[in-house]
Amino acid sequence: MSQPCPAEIILVGAGMAGLTAASRLREAGHAVRVLEKSRGPGGRMSTRRAGPWQFDHGAQYFTARDPGFRQAVEQWQARGLVGPWNPRIRVFGPSPEKRGDGPATRWVGVPGMNGILRDLAGTVDCRYEHRVTGLSRHNGGWRLTIDGRESMECNRIVLTPPPAQTAQLLGQDHPLHATVSRVHMQPCLALMLAFDNPLDPGFDAAFVNTGPLSWLARNGSRPGREGETWVVHGTPEWSRANLEQSPESLIGPMTEAFEALLGRSLPHQAYVTAHRWRYALADPGLEVGCLDDPETGLVIAGDWCAGNRVEGAWKSGVQAAQACLVAP
Ligand SMILES: Cc1cc2nc3c(=O)[nH]c(=O)nc-3n(C[C@H](O)[C@H](O)[C@H](O)COP(=O)(O)OP(=O)(O)OC[C@H]3O[C@@H](n4cnc5c(N)ncnc54)[C@H](O)[C@@H]3O)c2cc1C
Repeated sequence: MSQPCPAEIILVGAGMAGLTAASRLREAGHAVRVLEKSRGPGGRMSTRRAGPWQFDHGAQYFTARDPGFRQAVEQWQARGLVGPWNPRIRVFGPSPEKRGDGPATRWVGVPGMNGILRDLAGTVDCRYEHRVTGLSRHNGGWRLTIDGRESMECNRIVLTPPPAQTAQLLGQDHPLHATVSRVHMQPCLALMLAFDNPLDPGFDAAFVNTGPLSWLARNGSRPGREGETWVVHGTPEWSRANLEQSPESLIGPMTEAFEALLGRSLPHQAYVTAHRWRYALADPGLEVGCLDDPETGLVIAGDWCAGNRVEGAWKSGVQAAQACLVAP
């Protein structure tokens, strides 16, 4: 069934890139609609909620170096959507590659990492649990298939899923397919733990340069969070080697690796779960801002188009909106 769509521009993905572009296009007077396969906004900046606990299990914090992004962060801070995180940092292992040296301020969303994106999503027409499964040219514009059934039409389209998913939507014959499929993403397996009692090992975050883990974070030490919750990330290598295991089967090995770093057993866990990020960070990303096919009204954006990470996703979203605004 084809659904008439009042949206002039459809954006696929409600992460930082898609929602930044959508809100700028809406501010410029365009009718926009965002389609997101998950149940809410956030993408890799999602916050997992379980009972009384919440976990920032994807992006851990972000820095702001670009003057435009710094300005955006200042505005979010003034509205209480982000805050600085000043963790006590420890470094495990001999490698100096990640020493946790104080960079620019480490920012986090408040009350969860997805706080900014929930705010942005509130300003545009977002449809959740809408997975785009097909894309074709139609009447000079685009027709999208949603979940293999329903379809929507629009004049212009902005794709922000990770490169493998974007390449699949484009199809092999598209002129941008080769560029997009050259970008590979590193995986990351994440462990989330909640404790009834405080677990204070003397640090709030740790860069780990030895063994299967890469990062430990005391989620509750971030502004606006409560409870003794921790997030643990596997290295890209270990995550890749175990990617096809069920996340549940990795709880044991990851917990043991956490205990080995602390040098003691963990106290009773009130809640524990694991998550597989198949596409976490680009390795390496592109430095193009966004990819653009002005003749067909198609723009491709995402952190992997603009140097990776949250700041890259924001910059790519801004550039995608500009590309749509100058398109004929
Ligand atoms: C484990 C982990 C740790 C990280 N740590 C940091 C960090 O410390 N600092 C930092 O700056 N960055 C970090 N990042 C990276 C950061 O999260 C990303 O750079 C940023 O969130 C990417 O935003 P995006 O909008 O480009 O993509 P995404 O957030 O991936 O958004 C794309 C959206 O598209 C949706 N989608 C995909 N396919 C479809 C489809 N077919 N139909 C509809 N919707 C679809 C997805 O569900 C997703 O919501 C981390 C990421 C991970 C996973």
